[in-house]
Amino acid sequence: MTDFLQEIRFCLPIGKYGFLSPYAPFPIKITVEGKLYDFPTVEHYYQAMKFYASDPRFQTVINLKNPDEARLLTKNPEYKINRRKDFDKNKFAIMEQGLRAKFAQNPEAAELLKQTGNAVLIKACEVCYKCGFGEGSGKNYMGKTLMKIRQELQK
Ligand SMILES: [Zn+2]
Repeated sequence: MTDFLQEIRFCLPIGKYGFLSPYAPFPIKITVEGKLYDFPTVEHYYQAMKFYASDPRFQTVINLKNPDEARLLTKNPEYKINRRKDFDKNKFAIMEQGLRAKFAQNPEAAELLKQTGNAVLIKACEVCYKCGFGEGSGKNYMGKTLMKIRQELQK
């Protein structure tokens, strides 16, 4: 019997696989520069990490209600100029840390991830400008990282 792999495409926090989105409302706690912070979503964590925790912009990003507002605020020229110089070099590690915290700290999200079995997870959509960490320019980094975390959870 031929076993074919199902593909799951996700991006926005809507629908059956919306839980895979970095925008999905699964809060995480992560220590940054020696202090524990609460982030409403993985996206908030990723966007806040563009700044030093000592920079008031860090907290302003966390306080925004909508993760997409947080993303857009960091594009503002006044924010852009104050970005950590080491952010780009670390962005994949930051995203992975955020995703790991999400599934370690939210058992219901971990359960849903396990239930995707061996499906291929692909971050892709037609709405985002570049679909960050998605297929194409992002080489599906997010999908690959989620599959790696899933494999660890299934052990
Ligand atoms: Zn997208």
